[in-house]
Amino acid sequence: MKITKVESFILHVPLSPPITDAINAPTHWGLPGVRIYTDEGITGYGYTGTCAYGDELITDTIDRYYTPVLLGKDPYMVREIWDELRYGKMHWIGRAGITHMALAAVDIALWDLMSKAASRPLWQYLGGHKSKPVKAYNTNGGWLNWPKERLLQDITAFVEQGFTGVKMKVGKPDPREDYDRVRAVRQAIGDDVILMVDVNQMWNITTAMTWGKKLEEFDLFWLEEPLNPDDVMNHKKLADELNVPIALGEHVYSKYAFRDYIHQGAVEYVQVDTTRVGGITEWLQVAGLAAAYDLPIVPHVGDMGQIHQHLVAATSNAVMLEYIPWIRDIFVEPATVKDGYYVLPQMPGASTEVIPEYFDKYRVK
Ligand SMILES: [Mg+2]
Repeated sequence: MKITKVESFILHVPLSPPITDAINAPTHWGLPGVRIYTDEGITGYGYTGTCAYGDELITDTIDRYYTPVLLGKDPYMVREIWDELRYGKMHWIGRAGITHMALAAVDIALWDLMSKAASRPLWQYLGGHKSKPVKAYNTNGGWLNWPKERLLQDITAFVEQGFTGVKMKVGKPDPREDYDRVRAVRQAIGDDVILMVDVNQMWNITTAMTWGKKLEEFDLFWLEEPLNPDDVMNHKKLADELNVPIALGEHVYSKYAFRDYIHQGAVEYVQVDTTRVGGITEWLQVAGLAAAYDLPIVPHVGDMGQIHQHLVAATSNAVMLEYIPWIRDIFVEPATVKDGYYVLPQMPGASTEVIPEYFDKYRVK
């Protein structure tokens, strides 16, 4: 099989209503991505996820620097292609962020192509590990801009729908308000539902130590991204001192950066995201690294779960997956949760193919 055409795109899917966490306030979810065509008539779709800012920088990287390398290549040589793109012309100016998200879109499209050619859903093509549905936890009711009433209303509704895990944002200017909101949620959902809190990097080590300790009484399943994601040393301090596990990974861009977190004991739930870490090829290596340390993987869903549902189903130490249904309706086979569990996809590929009508409707490039 040979790659005959590479076509980048940008989709902006509106969020209704807009949400916030401690550092972002998106009105749309951005999908800068790529369609890769082949001489066998099979087309692969890959994308990364953004708050709809900077998407054109990602597709420029694909158009100007990755496409010339890809044309004429055999998609089955995906690991060699990955190295060629990663260590090619862009290596000098970008080993994380824009270039790695562009690489993720390309790499995901190649894995989509290969599994389509094999007539298998990606999770089986990779070697399936879970024949039963994958446990989901719901993030979509815990936004920081939700007033307390809506927060309680949404989160209790998820529990009634069958979710046994929920996540809420913290990082308000006054941490006492966070404390009050977490207490109210825990009271509302009872002791049997697992509850995670996500700081989105807003705290410094002093705030994290103080308020992380205070929040321990609410039996949190994890504390997510308490600090700047480059600060391995202080995450290690928190992991040592707090009785709440530390979760992070959505801003960690390579297996080397994960190695430092993992080897130093600075992360306890590994949230490696295929759309940030350069795609499925690198994701699998991080998953193997975490497995060797007996650490659980619970990916952050920059893809909104479409691709990660396959990766979790194919990975022994991946235990659960986040659920945010913002963009599911645009896909030919949308990620589906029933009674709190992801229904395993059955169509060939990585569940990345977009319905043509929505592709045209939300396309901005
Ligand atoms: Mg997060």
